[in-house]
Amino acid sequence: MNMATERKPAPMLDVERIRADFPILGEQIYGKRLVFLDSAASAQKPRQVIDAERMVYEREYANIHRGVYYLSQRATDAFEAARETTRAFLNARETREIVFLRGATEGVNLVAQSWGLDNLKVGDAIVLSTIEHHSNIVPWQLLRDRLGFEIRVAPVDDEGQIDMAAYRDLLDERVKLVAITHCANSIGTITPIREIARLAKEQGAVVLVDGAQAAPHLRIDVQEIGCDFYVFSGHKTYGPSGAGALYGRGELLDAMPPWQGGGEMITRVSFEESRFHEVPHKFEAGTPNIAGTIALGAALDYISGLGHEAILAHEHDLLDYAMARLGEINSLRVIGTAREKAAIVSFTLGDIHPHDVGTILDREGIAVRVGHHCAQPTMDRFDLPATVRASFGIYNTREDVDALYDGLRKTLEIFA
Ligand code: PMP
Repeated sequence: MNMATERKPAPMLDVERIRADFPILGEQIYGKRLVFLDSAASAQKPRQVIDAERMVYEREYANIHRGVYYLSQRATDAFEAARETTRAFLNARETREIVFLRGATEGVNLVAQSWGLDNLKVGDAIVLSTIEHHSNIVPWQLLRDRLGFEIRVAPVDDEGQIDMAAYRDLLDERVKLVAITHCANSIGTITPIREIARLAKEQGAVVLVDGAQAAPHLRIDVQEIGCDFYVFSGHKTYGPSGAGALYGRGELLDAMPPWQGGGEMITRVSFEESRFHEVPHKFEAGTPNIAGTIALGAALDYISGLGHEAILAHEHDLLDYAMARLGEINSLRVIGTAREKAAIVSFTLGDIHPHDVGTILDREGIAVRVGHHCAQPTMDRFDLPATVRASFGIYNTREDVDALYDGLRKTLEIFA
């Protein structure tokens, strides 16, 4: 049986086999088994990704796009193959619609500084939502402070779901952009992004989707969503940090000015003027993260090889199990109970400070995130300064949930 046929049917993930792909999961933390529940902040890397990055440095490293020699051609081919992999992963129409950059944050900043600077002015409005990550808030505020447009915020209900009636009410002819998350990192809500995009389009607004949390969990189809821009980060999709992508609809990217100038993005420079490459190279000034981007391609192949349906089924099972087990703890309050939700559980434990919970869990070998999760407006919405967040990925098991449950019981005993 070859690899392809072994992987193919996979209605359920072979989690033991996946775990064996992640060397770090063999590490002991304070002499205990590592229970890694912080994939929403950054996921661990499988050997296939680590090997891909090492292979570049050992066998095919050179700067790309400008060398005439063999190694440079080979590195360029591998880099451009990652672009095709990313195109297929997002189901974009063309590879030129994929811009490589550092990650979701840089993608939003690119759109703000290039499209936004050219297209937003006093009297215009943009729509964000309460449950955005700071990286989809601050770039727009920086621009708003320079250009004077209005920022409107779509609220969420007590479950953490976007209030669609309120969102609809925010949309009028002044709205030029809707920039909303596909999945909220702080509380796990999966937003009805197709409907959000459809309504925005009816008003003629441009749509940017923050896919940083959706990319590791959901099948993404930018054409089906109907968005103009989609951003995600490699490090959350089991790939390297410092590598990510922006999808932009071809006609829009063509019309946008470069946002950073430098080498790679020009065809001709003199002191009088410079001429720029076609997209996507127009937006890729300077030497990129060559090995990291090639390894990002390996990470997306890894995810696609497992299959999105199998990933979703596995993570749903973990989410259901976690909600049931944590529900056994009376003083535990889950924040974010949306019907459509990724395997991210944000909670408080009585009046114990989340940092104390995180510290006690850490001594048990359990890594969770505590704090505001770069989503302070979300915390404000639920009147909290911080939560504990357990986030699950392809390598997590029900045993990990049980370990979290035991760790929380222990925390309660310590604070009793
Ligand atoms: N958006 C969301 C929803 C996120 O979770 C994150 C990372 N926590 C970002 C954007 C920013 O991603 P990065 O730091 O990789 O640019």
